[in-house]
Amino acid sequence: MRASVEQRLASELEQFRRDGVYKRLNYLDSPQGPRVQMEGRGEVIILSSNNYLGLANAPDVVKAGHEGLDRFGAGTASVRFICGTFTIHKELEAELATLVGAEASLTYVSCWTANEAVCPTLLGPDDVVISDQLNHASIIDSIRLARQIVKCQGAVYRHSDMADLEEKLKAAKGARTRLIFTDGIFSMEGDVARLADIVDLARKYDAIVAVDDSHATGVLGKTGRGTPEYAGVLGEVDIITSTLGKALGGAAGGFVASSAALCDSLVQRSRPQLFSNALPPTVTMSSLAAVRHLRAHPELVERLRANTKYFRDQLKARGFKPLEGDTPIIPVILGETSKAIQMSDLLLNEGVFVTGFGYPVVPKGEARVRCQISAAHTRDDLDQALAAFDKVGSRLNLV
Ligand code: PLP
Repeated sequence: MRASVEQRLASELEQFRRDGVYKRLNYLDSPQGPRVQMEGRGEVIILSSNNYLGLANAPDVVKAGHEGLDRFGAGTASVRFICGTFTIHKELEAELATLVGAEASLTYVSCWTANEAVCPTLLGPDDVVISDQLNHASIIDSIRLARQIVKCQGAVYRHSDMADLEEKLKAAKGARTRLIFTDGIFSMEGDVARLADIVDLARKYDAIVAVDDSHATGVLGKTGRGTPEYAGVLGEVDIITSTLGKALGGAAGGFVASSAALCDSLVQRSRPQLFSNALPPTVTMSSLAAVRHLRAHPELVERLRANTKYFRDQLKARGFKPLEGDTPIIPVILGETSKAIQMSDLLLNEGVFVTGFGYPVVPKGEARVRCQISAAHTRDDLDQALAAFDKVGSRLNLV
C-alpha cells in the first residue's frame, strides 16, 4: 500500500478513536448463544445478538448444515442461472414464502443484497419510492442505487408519521408506481412499523408496500411470521424482505418474498442475483431446518416474549428507562455517546456484552446501550445481566 494512503487511513482511524466511535471486534471462541466464550475474557452473557430464537447452535440446525455440506459440497461455484442451482434452494424458497405469507420467494447471500435488488429492479424513471426516515442502511442504499441507475424519484417520510406519509403519497399521484418501503421492526428504537395503517394508505393511494422484516421474522406475531402477522395483515403486504442471519439460524443470507412474477423478474434482472453466487448448501439447509424448527415450536416465540417482558420490567424496577415496546430490542437511553460506550465497557468487565451506540448512528443526546433478548436466555442469564446493570448503573450514577 502506498505510504500516503496508509497515512490517511491511520489518521482517520485515530480520529475515530478520539471521537469514541472506533469499533473493537470481540472474538468469540464458541458458538453464538446466551453465554459464549470470549477471547481474553472467558464466559460472557450475550445481550447483543440477533439470535432471537436461540437457533444459531440448535442441534437440528447444525446437523442440517452438515448434511448440506455432505450432500451438495461447498457451493454452486458460480451464479445460479449460469451453473445450476440446488434443489434445496427451491425447497427453502417455498418454505420462506409460506412462512411470511407470500406466493414465492428468492434467496440472496444477504438481506443487504436482497434489499439492494428490489428498488433498482422494480422501479424506473416514472416511479416513486417513499421511505421511512429510520429505515435500515440497506434500504437507503437500495434507493440511492435506484435513483442513480434507473432515475426513479425518492421521498422520505418522518418516522412512522402517517400524516406525512399520506402527504408524500398525494405528491406522488402522477407516478406509475408508488412504493412505500419500511422496516418491520426498527433496529435502533425497537419499535414496530404501523403496518396496518400503511397498508390502508397504500390501498387508498394505489401504492405497493415493501417491508424489511429482518428483526421481526421469527419474532413478531403469535407464531413468529413477522410484522404482517403482528399487525393483522398477513398476506396483504406486496413485498417482504428478510434475513436468515438473525432468528432463522443466524448464519447469513436473505430473501425477497412476493408474487411469483416479482420474484421471477428479480431472477431475470436483479444484479445481486445475476452477478453473485447462491447461498451455500450449509446455510440453505440450516436455514431450512430453522424455519421448520420455528413451525414446530411456536412456544419459542412466546418464551422470547416472556423473557423480553421480564427483562424490560426488571430494568424499570431498577430505575433504568428503557424505551417502551413489544419487541426484544430494548434500548436504554443514556444521553452522551461517551456514557453509552463507558457503560458498555463496564458491563463487559462484569461479563455482559451489550453494545453502546452513539451519534451518528442515533441522534445526538440519545446515545444508548441496546439490549437484545433471546428465547434461549434462562432466568439465571437475565438475572445475572440485571445484577451487572445494577452495579454499573450505580457506579455511573444512572440509577
Ligand atoms: N435489514 C435490517 C433491518 C437489518 O437489521 C439488517 C442487518 O443488520 C439487514 C437488513 C441486513 O441483513 P444481512 O445481515 O442479511 O445482510
